[in-house]
Formats: sequence, structure tokens, C-alpha cells
Amino acid sequence: MERKKGIVERIANERVAILFSMAEKCIATEPELSASYVNILEHIMKHYHLKPDSRLKGRICKHCHVVLVPGFNCTVRIRSSSKIVAYTCSKCKSDMRILYG
Ligand SMILES: [Zn+2]
Repeated sequence: MERKKGIVERIANERVAILFSMAEKCIATEPELSASYVNILEHIMKHYHLKPDSRLKGRICKHCHVVLVPGFNCTVRIRSSSKIVAYTCSKCKSDMRILYG
């Protein structure tokens, strides 16, 4: 049972990673398509109770659910004193803060 669960989670994680890179690639050219990829991705994560990995953390806006691409639709600030990376969504101005290190 435990083994089967592990495999399912691994496949779900792979799909999330694929969907994320697809959403990232088309955000500039086809934002609507990108949004639907994010929608599917978030459904998978919710369904399998997946936690975002380091690549995904803070990279999807919690408010408007868009993929955040630094220099395109978000700004990144690093506070080395508190070890926080803040991604600010240009659309809704909300902050996604991640601890690093
Ligand atoms: Zn936003």
C-alpha cells in the first residue's frame, strides 16, 4: 500500500513539474493557456496533498494563480539578513515570501 502511494505521488509530482514548465513557457504568448495549466496543476496538488518543491515555491501567485516569471510579471527581492526571497506579483501586487538556506 505504502509503495503504491509512493509511486502515485511520484507520478503526480512529475506531472506538476511538467505542467509548471509548460505554464512558464507560454505565460508571455498565451496567458490563458498558461492559466489553465496552473489550474490543472493546482488540482493535482490539492488532490494528492502535494507540497510545492523548491522549484515551485513562491512561483505561483496565491491570489491570481499565475506563474510568476521574474522580469516578466514579478519582481524578486532578496533580504540576505533574514534569508527571505520575496516574489511580488505585478498583477495583484501580492507578496510570496520564501525562506532560503
Ligand atoms: Zn497575483
